Amino acid sequence: MFYTSTRDNSIRVTAAQAIARGISEEGGLFVPCELPSFSIQKIESMVEMDYINRAKTVLKEFLTDFSDEELEYCVNGAYAKEKFSNEKIAPTVNVNGNENILELWHGPTCAFKDMALQLLPYLMTVSAKKTADGKTIVILVATSGDTGKAALEGFKNVENTKILVFYPVDGVSPMQKLQMTTQEGENVAVCAINGNFDDAQSAVKSIFTDDEIKAELAKKNMMFSSANSINWGRLVPQIVYYFSTYCDLVEQKRISCGDEINVVVPTGNFGNILAAYYAKKMGLPIKKLICASNSNNVLTDFINGGEYNKNREFFTTTSPSMDILISSNLERLLYHISGENAHLVNELMSSLSSDGKYTVTDDIREKIGELFSAGFSDEKGVFETIKEQFENYHYLCDTHTAVAVKVYEDYVKTSGDDIPTVIDSTASPYKFSKSVLNALSSDTNDISDEFKTVYELNKLTGAEVPKPLKALKDKEVRFKEICSKENMSEMVFKLLNI
Ligand SMILES: *Cc1c(COP(=O)(O)O)cnc(C)c1O
Repeated sequence: MFYTSTRDNSIRVTAAQAIARGISEEGGLFVPCELPSFSIQKIESMVEMDYINRAKTVLKEFLTDFSDEELEYCVNGAYAKEKFSNEKIAPTVNVNGNENILELWHGPTCAFKDMALQLLPYLMTVSAKKTADGKTIVILVATSGDTGKAALEGFKNVENTKILVFYPVDGVSPMQKLQMTTQEGENVAVCAINGNFDDAQSAVKSIFTDDEIKAELAKKNMMFSSANSINWGRLVPQIVYYFSTYCDLVEQKRISCGDEINVVVPTGNFGNILAAYYAKKMGLPIKKLICASNSNNVLTDFINGGEYNKNREFFTTTSPSMDILISSNLERLLYHISGENAHLVNELMSSLSSDGKYTVTDDIREKIGELFSAGFSDEKGVFETIKEQFENYHYLCDTHTAVAVKVYEDYVKTSGDDIPTVIDSTASPYKFSKSVLNALSSDTNDISDEFKTVYELNKLTGAEVPKPLKALKDKEVRFKEICSKENMSEMVFKLLNI
């Protein structure tokens, strides 16, 4: 299988090249030239497999330049049972009726990013051996909170790699901040920036494609790559859990193999829901892909109206990992939906960078509308949903998952479509303890100590506190640096000692 670029589809690279480079030279994103297809029989044969074997079955089709031994090494290392707090790795839990929750946060950093970022360092080092022998790979990350920690944890002390993470100084939860600033490892660095996630992401993207900076790195035998979901190696592991949750629903006898399901995804950078789109295109019986946004509802407006417009107020919400106005992976969807029209993608993306907006044709809007449905939840909806889910079903969810649950409930009310549904749960409630506790109980607003909040939430709900979060209490803060968004490239040199 080969990969091409959303902005120049004469490009052909292998999976290893796509993963090692992260982003295509001209700024486009790597996409598969064609998709493998999975028959219902093939999906049925995956029902009795465990997560590791389901992962191998799916990944094998995409990473055709990896040997069986290489794939085995990568997948077994990434999804080793001792790294996850649930032996199913990503369990599917029935909450009520046809509402099922896919819990993607049982990994070491308690957010769904682990599902991809535990695997990416393995894919990256194997890819680098094939394509960039001897070079040190410098992973540059812009994070809205969860990617940073998950990438740091995945890459810490991985040979021939260095990782630098930038996060918006006021845009992450106290627990997320603590997770990053206490990170251990010899090859890691973390820096706050004065700006929001979009600022960090744009700066990182331009550093990546800056020829002078790249030349400076090359002199030191280093090259950049990305652990953000612009890297194909981040997306491909996410396709796996859609097949896996489907198999789990069959196993639990909630559906028969071949039945359609709906999927609801709390969305920011559009990576997770794009993985669900690929799964659907590969033959997984998904009826609607339901895109859930918080108050930063640029995607809701786009999917419903055809205009993408980031010129709007930016809200800092209680679901910070979705506080995003530029959803990078939408570019991949536009490429596929437009019939691989790289010319059009170039036009739309340059209009996005010059005017902050673009409009697609009616034809494209209709095609998107057939596959996707979109909605958003404001903060009040998030708080009410957390409380209701807990009081009615004794299910405790975090703020991001609550956005998805609320949008799902609205979808069922307006469409009447209540077939079995999987809602992605993307973070442990304990990563956002204060918001979750406030949603449940009105007299706890004044607790300022993060670990006291965790304790209170645990006392009130009985939900288990993940071990990696408990352990942060005694860790030393290693990274205190703050820089302006204009100075990020200098900071990169400083952090790399060059
Ligand atoms: C990253 C993240 C999201 C958004 O996922 P995308 O793939 O960027 O759309 C949602 N919830 C949580 C908790 C996250 O960390």
